[in-house]
This record gives sequence, C-alpha cells and structure tokens, in this order.
Amino acid sequence: MNDTFISNYIKNIEISGIRKFFNEVANYQEAISLTLGQPDFPVPQKIKEELIKAIEENKTGYTSNMGLIELREEISAYLSDLNINYNPEEICLTVGGSEGLFNVFISLLNPNDKVLIPRIAYPAYESLTKLTGAIPIFYHLNEDFSLRVEEIERLVEKENPKILVLSFPSNPTGAILTKEEREKLFHIIKNNDIVVISDEIYSSLCFEEKYYSICQCKEIKDKVILISGFSKMFSMTGLRVGYVCSIERYMKHIVKVHQYNTSCAPSIVQWALARGFRSSLKDTLHMKEEFKRRRNYVYKRLRELGFEVNLPQGAFYIFPSIKKYNLSSEEFAFKLLKEGGVAVVPGSAFGAGGEGFVRISYAYSMEELQEALDRIEKFIKARFLG
Ligand code: PMP
Repeated sequence: MNDTFISNYIKNIEISGIRKFFNEVANYQEAISLTLGQPDFPVPQKIKEELIKAIEENKTGYTSNMGLIELREEISAYLSDLNINYNPEEICLTVGGSEGLFNVFISLLNPNDKVLIPRIAYPAYESLTKLTGAIPIFYHLNEDFSLRVEEIERLVEKENPKILVLSFPSNPTGAILTKEEREKLFHIIKNNDIVVISDEIYSSLCFEEKYYSICQCKEIKDKVILISGFSKMFSMTGLRVGYVCSIERYMKHIVKVHQYNTSCAPSIVQWALARGFRSSLKDTLHMKEEFKRRRNYVYKRLRELGFEVNLPQGAFYIFPSIKKYNLSSEEFAFKLLKEGGVAVVPGSAFGAGGEGFVRISYAYSMEELQEALDRIEKFIKARFLG
C-alpha cells in the first residue's frame, strides 16, 4: 500500500540524520562511536537516591499539567542566578526539551508562517516547522559559526518571519552568544513583530565565565520563549524532563498542547529533581570542567592533524571542516567508519549548511577519545597523506 494515508506534512520530514548514522554504526562492532549527544557521566547520586525514594513513596501518579510547583520553584531560582526571570507560574515541565520544542512550534505556527533557523542547527527546528506547514528560512553563520546579525536583520525585514530560532550553546557547532550579539539582537527583536524561541538546553555547559542569553533582556520578555531541560545538565537523557518558560499569553496555549500530548512529565523524575536539584549543581560543574579538558584535547589533536576547526565555547561537540578532502560529509563519515573504525556524524544531518563538516561528540571518556583520535590520525595519514 502506498502512503496516501499519511499526512503531507509528515511525508515532508525525515528521521534525524544523527540517529540514522548511529543505527548504521551498530553494523560495525569494532568501531568507536563519537556520535551521541549524551554525557557519559552517571546521574548525580542525590538524584538517584531521590528517584528510588519517590518510587518507594508511591509518587507515581499524574502531577499537575504544569508540573510540581516545588521543582518549578527550583528552576525559577536557578534561572534568576543566570539573570533570567521567570516565576514558577511561567514554567511548564515537559517530557524533555524535545516535547517543549514540539509544544511551542505547534502552539505558535500556522501554515505558511515563516521561521528563521540557523543554516547549521539541531534538526528538530526545521522538521517541526515543516510539521506545522510553516516555511523554514535559513540564516547564514560566519566562518567561526558566530551570528551574522546583519543578515538576521535583513531577513526579518524582507521575509517578515513570525519566529526567530536561537540555539546557544549550539549543537553541533559549540558556538555561544556573546554580549555584543545579544545587544544587537535585542534591538532587532524590540523593533519588529517577531517571537524568539531560544533553545538553551546546553546553558549549563558554557565554558566562558559569563553566560549571555536573549532571555536576560527584560524589556522583550513578551517576545521570547525559553526551552531548556535536564538531559545534559544532570546527565539524564533517558529520564525525560525538560521545561518551557514564557509569559502567560503564550503559556496558556502551550499548556493545552502539552496536556493533550503527554499530560505531565514523569512524576518520579520531577520529585527527584525537586529534591536533588540544588545539591547536584556541583556535579554539573564537575562535568563542565571535564568536558572543557576533553574539548581542549580533541581540539589540539584535530589541529595537529591539519583540520580547520573552531574552538567550541560550549556544549560537548566539535565541528571540524572536511572540505579539503573533497568528499561529501556522508562519504567522509562512511569511509572513516569503514576504514578507520570511528563513527562521527555527517554535517549534512544539521542542514545544508553543515555539508563539508562532521560533528564529533566529546561526551566520551578520555581513553575512548584518545583511541578514536589515534584512529583518525591513522586514517587521514593513510588515505590523504600517504
Ligand atoms: N535541543 C538541542 C539543541 C539538543 O541537542 C537536544 C538533544 N540532543 C534537545 C534540544 C532535546 O533534548 P531532550 O529532549 O533530551 O531534553
């Protein structure tokens, strides 16, 4: 039977290229995989203990749609330390940042609305846009993956988009938002009829001293929606809790989608987070320091091998150029997998702008990273320098 019964919007989107490649790696038993975006640390001990306690206390029923007030209070306090102000009523807990993104895109977009998306970005933004029948418009980045604010300004005027997607620290580039960029963006947003969806799921993994976010600009709070979560912050990708923050004008609609989508985020995880949040922040700091050490190592090795590569300032990905090897990013990744025994994600999985790059995740142990880089070195020397 053909797919006449499938929605045209759904036919228009594809399974994420990251997952596709991850599944392919399973066929190569000996390969080292640097493909996944999940920290290799255990969940903080206190959160583990509270998870068990929550089960023993039978805290296994639905929570309110918005989620436990105790946890929303913790999030509100945590965000205010980053100079981002949302009260608990403006925070909705979701099943990961993924559900948060879904709810927000579905709540805001009509068919043919336009959405500005970075030309190299996490694939969900483009797919969710298409899912609603809206139109993605891509904005270029500079060579170092920083924002071309002038281009955003030009596109806002020319295309009249409804939404601007910002995503810092970035998956896959590791770029962060600077103070200067934040100021320029602030003026564009203030002066135009546009809403920002700011995906800050990696905010706890920013390697710079100070964290800058468009959500810090109080004057445009009515034009910004924040998406975040705990998958990366507390190394709990499988436990599925994230959150959306926005003023009531949007939230009262977002929560309807959330209600019909999932009712509430998992109850025991909410309880464990509420009780373990504060004391687990030191675990996040430890992870950040370790990721920084690994970033420095991987960056140095790639530079020594002659890769053109930017130093990431956040998250746990590095995005070297492979343009000089005259292969598409898929061809390069397949050859590296088959001949070199290392799996990385082709840049094309992150949109057309990602062609010519590969994404390496350094959320793996130092031993694995060392071995993987030794293998990459051998592969490059044998194939391109031999
Ligand atoms: N946004 C970005 C940029 C991500 O990289 C991810 C996960 N890889 C998510 C959102 C969603 O994460 P989760 O659903 O696990 O919270």
